[in-house]
Order: sequence, then structure tokens, then C-alpha cells
Amino acid sequence: MEVTRAICVLKGPGSVSGTIRLKSGEGGHSTSLTGEIFGLTPGKHGFHVHTFGDISQGCGSTGPHYNPCNETHGAPQDKKRHVGDLGNIEADENGTAHVDMVDRLIRLAGKYAIIGRSLVVNEKEDDLGKAGTKESIESGTHGAGVAWGIIGIDEDPK
Ligand code: ZN
Repeated sequence: MEVTRAICVLKGPGSVSGTIRLKSGEGGHSTSLTGEIFGLTPGKHGFHVHTFGDISQGCGSTGPHYNPCNETHGAPQDKKRHVGDLGNIEADENGTAHVDMVDRLIRLAGKYAIIGRSLVVNEKEDDLGKAGTKESIESGTHGAGVAWGIIGIDEDPK
């Protein structure tokens, strides 16, 4: 049975928490991510799929942005990006980010499947590889992780 739904429960060492639900689009050619993340500072925060589901050392053991194509860091709409580059989420004045995005690269099954990997929310805005520094091109500058979780298989109600 092909996985068409997934869930990621995000938690951090501080006040940030949330839940993201992932769903395969028509024909499996895209994946939607919806949910809420609470306790953020208002403004933009980097949001990425990391390579491993190992949260034994917090987000420090989740590895780099998921990058099966050996590309440079970028924005979700860029041709050159890590598969795990989901750009930024934006928290309102109450510190809540309402996530509702569709990504064309990440998948719940097959090539580029992200089940068993992790989602990480960053302290700061992701520069999307545009800051002109080596760090920016390799991984973006976005500060430390403030919440993370393992992407797991969820029930398909159909
Ligand atoms: Zn990246």
C-alpha cells in the first residue's frame, strides 16, 4: 500500500510546538503540508526536511537538509534547491504560523520519500541561498532549530 498521508508532531526545547499533516497530491506529483505551529517569535522562520529522523540529540542529529540530488540550497520555487528546502513559514503577532503549502519535490512514497526523516523549524528567516556567502549557498542562514519532529505514516481515511 502506497503511503499517501503523513504526520509530523513538532516539539522543541522552548515554547514552540505544532502539528503538520502531509498529503500526496493528485497522481503523487506534489505534497501538501497543512497545520499550525505555536509559540514562535513573530515573523519568518526557516522550514526544512532534514535527512534523518534521529532526534536523539535534538535537531543536531537530524543531519543536513535532505539533498538526494546533491544540489545547492535554495527557495522552494528555485530550480536548484535541496529537496528538503521548504523556504519559510511566517508567524503572526501571536506567534502562530498557519502552514498551508504545496511542494512539487517532496514525496511520501517512492523516490524522494521523506517518511522517516524529520521536519525542523528554525529560529530565524532562511535567506534561501541568496545572501552571497558560502554558508548561505550550502544551507542558508537561519539560526538554530526551535522545534522538530519525525515524519511518520498517518492513517488514510478513505
Ligand atoms: Zn537547504
